Amino acid sequence: MKNICVYCGSSPGRRPEYRQAAEALAAELVSRGIGLVYGGASIGVMGAVANTMLAGGGRVTGVIPEALAVREVPHPNLTEMHVVGSMHERKAMMESLSDGFIALPGGLGTLEELFEILTWAQLGFHRKPCGLLDVSGYFRHLARFLDHCVAEQLLQPQYRNMLLEADCPAKLLALMDKYQPPAVDQRLSREDL
Ligand code: AMP
Repeated sequence: MKNICVYCGSSPGRRPEYRQAAEALAAELVSRGIGLVYGGASIGVMGAVANTMLAGGGRVTGVIPEALAVREVPHPNLTEMHVVGSMHERKAMMESLSDGFIALPGGLGTLEELFEILTWAQLGFHRKPCGLLDVSGYFRHLARFLDHCVAEQLLQPQYRNMLLEADCPAKLLALMDKYQPPAVDQRLSREDL
């Protein structure tokens, strides 16, 4: 994996553990020579990942929609910043620049991005690994809810299992390295989305 996209909160959250996990993930990416692709903000958990990457000499690519640049405070010192026209363009560009995706603690934006990238995998639009870094049990209930979706036969187990989970960056990256995508019912191309 050359570049990994990290989805995470534009807020710092209540616990210092969220920022610390962002920093630990960034340090692990730098040590492996993996670049970061993210939403381009300088605030919250997002800012913590980017700052640690840059402090360690890592590559950071931000992708921010023009309209959001006012609210989210674009990071001034990234290796590269793409200012795009819409939220959809942002997510499509983040996907195309990345070889895998990791969610750190975040709110609705993070969850939306994570679930969209998983649905793109389910449709066969990409075959890249998606992981949750479960900091202090933040995602525990989400993971159990997905198990409930499978038990209720609204989510197929092979698609549930696409979402890799670990409580530390090294373990998560090891799982992502070994990831084998499931066979999908139908494969879509970029033009279909
Ligand atoms: P949040 O987890 O809500 O703090 O948001 C994290 C990132 O997701 C930020 O860069 C937001 O701009 C982005 N975001 C917020 N809402 C959406 C949305 N509806 N679709 C895609 N991204 C979003």
